[in-house]
Amino acid sequence: MNKKTLQELRKIVGQDQVTTVPEELACYSYDGTGQEYLPAAVVFPGSTEEICRIMQLASATPFTVVPRGAGTGMTGGALPVAGGLVMVMSRLNRILEIDRDNQIAILQPGVITGDLRKAAGRHGLYYPPDPASLKFCTMGGNVAECAGGPSAVKYGVTRDYVLGLEAVLPDGRLIHTGVRTAKGVVGYDLTRLLVGSEGTLAIITQITVRLLPAPEARSILLVLCRGMVEATSLVAGILAHHTPCTLEYMDRTALAIVQNKLPFPLPEEVGALLLIELDGQKDSVALATSQLTKFLQAQPGIIQSRTAESADEAEQLWAARRAISPAAFSLKPHKMSEDVVVPRSHLPQLVSCTEALHRELGVVIFTFGHAGDGNIHVNIMLDRSIPQEVRQANTAKQLLFEEVLRLGGTLSGEHGIGLTKAAYLAMELDQSTITLMQEIKRLFDPLNILNPGKIFPPPIDSEKH
Ligand SMILES: Cc1cc2nc3c(=O)[nH]c(=O)nc-3n(C[C@H](O)[C@H](O)[C@H](O)COP(=O)(O)OP(=O)(O)OC[C@H]3O[C@@H](n4cnc5c(N)ncnc54)[C@H](O)[C@@H]3O)c2cc1C
Repeated sequence: MNKKTLQELRKIVGQDQVTTVPEELACYSYDGTGQEYLPAAVVFPGSTEEICRIMQLASATPFTVVPRGAGTGMTGGALPVAGGLVMVMSRLNRILEIDRDNQIAILQPGVITGDLRKAAGRHGLYYPPDPASLKFCTMGGNVAECAGGPSAVKYGVTRDYVLGLEAVLPDGRLIHTGVRTAKGVVGYDLTRLLVGSEGTLAIITQITVRLLPAPEARSILLVLCRGMVEATSLVAGILAHHTPCTLEYMDRTALAIVQNKLPFPLPEEVGALLLIELDGQKDSVALATSQLTKFLQAQPGIIQSRTAESADEAEQLWAARRAISPAAFSLKPHKMSEDVVVPRSHLPQLVSCTEALHRELGVVIFTFGHAGDGNIHVNIMLDRSIPQEVRQANTAKQLLFEEVLRLGGTLSGEHGIGLTKAAYLAMELDQSTITLMQEIKRLFDPLNILNPGKIFPPPIDSEKH
């Protein structure tokens, strides 16, 4: 990026809101994948109008732009693989409106997800999507990835709450999609197209979400099981009779790496655990908890089921669950973090497949995640400086994906394709579908300046990684 372009950028956003200082660039060169690509410059816009002008400059020059929230993405979406400009949304962090009567919120993309949940709570309202990263990820990143979370089993994912968007196209034009009403079918559903578009079609500058009344009560049940197959075999049965708001699963390794965060020691023989939360009105939660406990006690393979004794204990359990992903690095320095989904009744086959991959290839692999959605995080741990480990991990990933598709599943439930799964897109989608998606990308972004190198093959050495 030459001097003149940087000067133009500074004219748009102000002298201090653009940086090319190497130490500062390094802070925006990585994401949750642990990979690094240095941008040429980083910009911190303060308004939609500034973003429009930056994109006009980007298409006239041209240079590439990568939108970035908090950089917690798990598939490399915020990595500037082609250098260029990283656009950080941290200054656009205001909740503009919470309309209690109509149960909606309007906010800027840099709002932290957990902050929206707290703000909604102060109005007696509830924003359900709860990625485990909610204390630091942004709503813009959630919309771009269609983030999910433990509560998706009852409440659905980000897509189910986004009513409308304001967004800037790669050429700088401003668009408005969707509505702020409960319903709306005017024209094509561009909101749905942009949700999950991974920052490749437009820059999201304002988000309208629907909210729900906050649930009155919660209870947490912990189900200690002998093994992975026993635990996952329970899932379909539980959901046949109950609607928990979370149904999370952790295998033995996941439990071991966060055991110092658990509120109590686990018996030796525990091979897997289910964390089930029920919410709703006080009486109905109490009734559902006792019915579910009875159901669980009659199931084989369970060592013990117990309810959390206090709000503190419940919070400690959730803190332990949220700590699994970062704690994984105590096993190996690098991680392939897959978020495959299978029909819930096939979960036992999925976890058996990961056990077989461990046995046959010797890879360090463990599983946890949103069992209620059939969405299991399969973590393949490796040291990328050891070629043999990289080869084994790549083989494990390929075999895992083959098994997931054979079981009728999908390669990503919530993390998106980004960089790390681009090479595998054609395993799931046929060529005509991929071509149509590429044509949509070209229509939005004919110069390929917005977040290039993501989603579509050919990948840029996707498993350097
Ligand atoms: C510990 C941990 C736990 C996690 N748990 C979950 C989980 O339970 N569920 C889940 O779904 N994910 C989870 N994630 C992944 C990640 O937090 C989500 O994908 C989240 O939505 C990313 O938000 P972000 O603000 O960090 O976005 P970034 O990583 O900065 O960006 C992600 C993508 O969004 C694009 N983007 C960002 N802002 C905009 C914008 N304004 N306009 C257009 N595009 C934009 C970027 O270009 C990029 O492609 C977890 C990550 C970590 C590290």
